[in-house]
Amino acid sequence: MRISCDDAGVGSAKRPEASSEQVSAQMKRMPREDSGPELRLRRILHSRGLRYRTNLRGLPGTPDLVFSATKMAVFVDGCFWHQCPEHGTMPKANGDWWREKLDRNVERDRRVDGELEELGWLPIHVWEHDDPDLAADQVEQLWRERRAS
Ligand SMILES: [Zn+2]
Repeated sequence: MRISCDDAGVGSAKRPEASSEQVSAQMKRMPREDSGPELRLRRILHSRGLRYRTNLRGLPGTPDLVFSATKMAVFVDGCFWHQCPEHGTMPKANGDWWREKLDRNVERDRRVDGELEELGWLPIHVWEHDDPDLAADQVEQLWRERRAS
């Protein structure tokens, strides 16, 4: 499923300033795991008492956040790499190469979602442009529903 936040603040997904050079170097090495939008979502969910695993290997697609008990797999998707309908752009230089690459990303997302569902997991996608508070609301609601059932 794709979480969609109606009043998502466009341009609000700016990466926060790195607090030290070490962190800055780390963010460059691991743009996916330590991206700003994901950290913001994690911080909010954590402050609400939701506990999750990160960088957990072994699940299709290596989700960004994993809620094992409720079998929820959360991905924070970059607007460019996952071709967000609002901000997804196609580079003009080497256009064919980019189109093929980005199309493959989108296809892989769908395939991974199908694999997770077959294993009984709920794949949840959050855009990096989504308001992290609203995204957290929806993740929390799903978490409560699945925990109760
Ligand atoms: Zn976007």
